[in-house]
Amino acid sequence: MTTEAAHWGYSGTEAPQHWGCLSEAYRPCSEGVEQSPVNITACEPGEGPGLAFDYHGQPVTARNNGHTVYLDFASGNTLDIDGQSYELQGIHYHSPGEHEVEGERFAAELHLVHQDENGRLAVVGLLFRSGSPSASIQSILDAAPHVGDTVDIEEGRLAASYVPDRRGYFTYAGSLTTPPCTEGVRWIVMQSVDTVSQEQVDALQAITGGPNNRPVQPIGDRAISSVGS
Ligand SMILES: [Zn+2]
Repeated sequence: MTTEAAHWGYSGTEAPQHWGCLSEAYRPCSEGVEQSPVNITACEPGEGPGLAFDYHGQPVTARNNGHTVYLDFASGNTLDIDGQSYELQGIHYHSPGEHEVEGERFAAELHLVHQDENGRLAVVGLLFRSGSPSASIQSILDAAPHVGDTVDIEEGRLAASYVPDRRGYFTYAGSLTTPPCTEGVRWIVMQSVDTVSQEQVDALQAITGGPNNRPVQPIGDRAISSVGS
C-alpha cells in the first residue's frame, strides 16, 4: 500500500462488521456481493483443472503487520491452473480458520496468495483442525518478528512443503478477507485438512493479540465447485 490506510481490526469499533464504514476504500467489505470467507456447502461436484504447483523456493522475509505474519517469497514459485500461471507472493495465517466446511469451524487457516501477470489473485486456503502440531504453522511461529518488524529468514521451509499431497479442492469466486475486501479473487480451498496443536493456536493468537478471522459471508448466487478428491 502506498497510501495511509484506515485502521481496522478484529474487535471493538474496528471489528469486521464495521470495516465497510471505516474508510471509503473499504466499502466493498459491506457492499460487496462476492465476499470471503464462506461456509463451503452444497458443492457441485465438477470436472475442473488440476493444480500444478511448481514451487522451488523458500520464504526470504517474515513481516508482522499486527494483523498476521507474512512469509514473503521471491519470484519463481508458480501455480498453474488451466494454462493460467500465478506467482506465489506470500503465505500468512488466520486463527481460528476463516472458511467453514459444512458448518465445521477450523482452528487455523493458511493463505497462499498468488498473482498473475495482470494482477489477478488466486488464493489457496489450507485448513487445520485441532490435533498434532503442524510443521507449516511452526515455521511461521519460528520466523515471526514483533509487530511492525520485518526480518530476513536464513533457512526457510521449502514452499512445496506447505502444499498437501492430495490435490482435491473447493473453488469459488470471492474476495480478500481483510480490508479493502477487494473482489475478483479466485479461491481454492484444499479439501485435505491438516492438524495444529492447541499450543500453536495459542501462540498464533498471542502474536495478533487475539483471533484474526473474518466471519463467513453470504454465498448469495455463487456456486462452489468440488474438484477432484
Ligand atoms: Zn488471509
